[in-house]
Amino acid sequence: MKSFAEHLADCRSLHQRRPAISVPIRQALGLEVADPVHAVAPYPSFVASAMDGYAVRVVDVPGRLQVIGDVPAGTIPDARISPGTAVRVMTGSAVPAGAEAVVPVEDVRIDGTAINVATATSVGRHIRGIGEDVAPGDTVLDARRLVGPAQLAALATHNVTAVSVHPRPRVAILSTGDELVAIGTEPGPVQLVDSNGPGLAAAVEVAGGEVLHVGHVGDDPDRFRAAIDALPEVDLVLTSGGVSMGAYDVVKAVLDSEGIRFENVAMQPGRPQAWGRLGSGVPFLGLPGNPVSALVSFELFGRAALGRERTIAQATLTEAVPRSPRGKRQFLRGLLSDGRVTLAGGPESHLVVGMARANCLIVVEEDADSISRGEQVQVIPL
Ligand code: AMP
Ligand code: MG
Repeated sequence: MKSFAEHLADCRSLHQRRPAISVPIRQALGLEVADPVHAVAPYPSFVASAMDGYAVRVVDVPGRLQVIGDVPAGTIPDARISPGTAVRVMTGSAVPAGAEAVVPVEDVRIDGTAINVATATSVGRHIRGIGEDVAPGDTVLDARRLVGPAQLAALATHNVTAVSVHPRPRVAILSTGDELVAIGTEPGPVQLVDSNGPGLAAAVEVAGGEVLHVGHVGDDPDRFRAAIDALPEVDLVLTSGGVSMGAYDVVKAVLDSEGIRFENVAMQPGRPQAWGRLGSGVPFLGLPGNPVSALVSFELFGRAALGRERTIAQATLTEAVPRSPRGKRQFLRGLLSDGRVTLAGGPESHLVVGMARANCLIVVEEDADSISRGEQVQVIPL
């Protein structure tokens, strides 16, 4: 059997970025930065007050000072601080010439046009210096970083209106199985509703991909072949079902002879997996059909092929895992809260509603055949 790590590495090897394009920054949300962005100007770009208060000379406090002016945010100070004087400033307003520190308004007693300051201060106190955040030439955003709200704000701060990013990976999804009907259709007595189509489409979108096609095809090899050939141009094709040893496993029947690898991976759920490149060179993953297996496989391998892997965290297990198959990496469903994780939803791979009660995967490593209550485990928050 193939190890989990080896299969993960193979899926990672399928990842290829789309050529970079430049987009307005608001369209870059969730995309990967292609070229690093450097600061042209320093930030902060002028010496500013960090507090509402009074700009002073250090030698003048403690003491009584005459207030000779006022600097609202966005105005250029006209007063200059001379011995024995202060200027009222606001958070973010420019600090007048001659000022060495700002005394917060809370530390001042106002007395007509004068202030009394009871405590000493030091040079630079409550003053924001030029370039404290970034100097010219510093990196504002590294390549490979995903653009989120803070990254957008950093770009906006530097007046960067467009950024070069890799477009979302495009994905096509095909459910296989004669027993499946589309959602909204009444299934016959031994039929079921295709849940992998909608589930995988959502998982791709959460991962930052763009779903160009979600379809269903039965277990007929010619129809499956035609459905694959009719897919739009994408960066990854995902199928579900039809990859194991069954007599009607259509994905295997058609693609085994075309260079796609069909393998048993030492994991649970998700043992049968297919991967490779279609004749067109497009990356392909054949995920198992069981709904939990399909979703778990996407979270691990689909995301690897898209370059969007989940981060792994640690949590304390609040109950024991009495047994786990030795030699296989197990992914149990769990409920994670405050660094503690409980089992949720049941271990079997057809319990899709059970999975809907979970918010993470609990990793049971290959060499563990049980885990005691209170042990630290790896979790993958979903
Ligand atoms: P297969 O690998 O095709 O034998 O499928 C394994 C199990 O998953 C079978 O019980 C299928 O009925 C079920 N299954 C396969 N595809 C889907 C799907 N798209 N939605 C829901 N269940 C599925
Ligand atoms: Mg099937």
